[in-house]
Amino acid sequence: LAQLFRPLDLLGMVYRTIRQGVIDMGSMFDLIDTPSEVVDVPGARPLAVVRGHVRFEKVVFGYDDATILKGIDLDVPAGTTLAVVGPSGAGKSTLARLMYRFYDLDAGRITIDGQDIAQVTQDSLRAAIGIVPQDTVLFNDTIGYNIAYGREDASEAEIEAAARGAAIAPFIERQPDRYATRVGERGLKLSGGEKQRVAIARTLLKDPPVLILDEATSALDSRTEGEIMQTLEAIERGRTTIVIAHRLSTIVHADRIVVLEAGQVVEQGRHAELLAAGGVYAEMWQRQAQERDEALAAA
Ligand code: ADP
Ligand code: MG
Repeated sequence: LAQLFRPLDLLGMVYRTIRQGVIDMGSMFDLIDTPSEVVDVPGARPLAVVRGHVRFEKVVFGYDDATILKGIDLDVPAGTTLAVVGPSGAGKSTLARLMYRFYDLDAGRITIDGQDIAQVTQDSLRAAIGIVPQDTVLFNDTIGYNIAYGREDASEAEIEAAARGAAIAPFIERQPDRYATRVGERGLKLSGGEKQRVAIARTLLKDPPVLILDEATSALDSRTEGEIMQTLEAIERGRTTIVIAHRLSTIVHADRIVVLEAGQVVEQGRHAELLAAGGVYAEMWQRQAQERDEALAAA
């Protein structure tokens, strides 16, 4: 399986991943853990995104000996939103990492518009997908640079529009150097929610045909989440979206909801159908509704 890392592979990979913006995906741990065997096949062609129809076919995957995904079938027609919910550790973020081809599969395949993602160039695959990850890592640079990252040609007006869409513009405009304010170790420290909004702004600017939101609003308070949900729903419209959600209230509108447990799809359907079915999803929904009521009562 995963070949052990050699220092040179690691350097090359970190360089490539930083160049491609994969560092978005989260911690360096993710990067270091990426097996060096993910390479373009000889003669790989660029992905041709026609409409953005995403399919998982009998996908089996484990990071090591343990199988994490045990035969996943998903069909996300072009322009629709699929929500993935389930307990922590179920394998939800792993689905996102596989779509971005951080790892190759043990069996099965993932296709976009009928093209196996393992057969196309990694550059073209990653250019077609925008990810708002669970934890965003920012570069030690200006906040404007961090928003424009991956779209070096973006104009100031575009950067500001993206910041407004992600509800981070007022915060930036309060800083002494506005978009030129430095962030990171020797600059402004951003909270988890602020970093998430920078990642959302970056994605708005990238404008990719396929969008993955991995608990993209989990670090936000519910008021800010409310503000951003409208933006997210607007960018999801007409774009193939996979949204991994913790708070079910954020995915009620999804075209299809999949419940993942221990690496298997245990339920799927629309919100109303799943509630009526009275299964795992309905139980999760009731539990969260109860927590909301208790929080309200306590406030
Ligand atoms: P979720 O996003 O649903 O909480 P993940 O996809 O992050 O779950 O993780 C699924 C399982 O895979 C967990 O048991 C987790 O511990 C394991 N896992 C995640 N990342 C790695 C990794 N890099 N190496 C080994 N195991 C991992
Ligand atoms: Mg996760």
